[in-house]
Amino acid sequence: MTAAVWVAVTCHYCSRGRAPAEIIYMPGGIQICLDCYHRHREGVMALAGKPPTECSECHAAWEPGAMMAVHYEHGLYRCMCLPCSDKYVPKRRDIYGPTEYGWKKKLV
Ligand SMILES: [Zn+2]
Ligand SMILES: [Zn+2]
Repeated sequence: MTAAVWVAVTCHYCSRGRAPAEIIYMPGGIQICLDCYHRHREGVMALAGKPPTECSECHAAWEPGAMMAVHYEHGLYRCMCLPCSDKYVPKRRDIYGPTEYGWKKKLV
């Protein structure tokens, strides 16, 4: 007896299995789930001057006037509150090395 088969597509960014309807196919064979895509969009909008609604890490609501860091991760932008950003940056020395502190400029 074969039950309905659950087809899961793996998101290349968070590595979670998702239903095919929750996956967006990007150029180059990249598969991204809606959650990751939403975070990415918020990051892009933040860079364009539109504030994000929440921290992509702890989901704290963004308060008007508060500073948010925008990080570039695996080809996607993510907005983070400063406490999360402070925790995140030391884990990413590979990209935020001595010459790559440009992200700080985005806080100005
Ligand atoms: Zn994902
Ligand atoms: Zn946060």
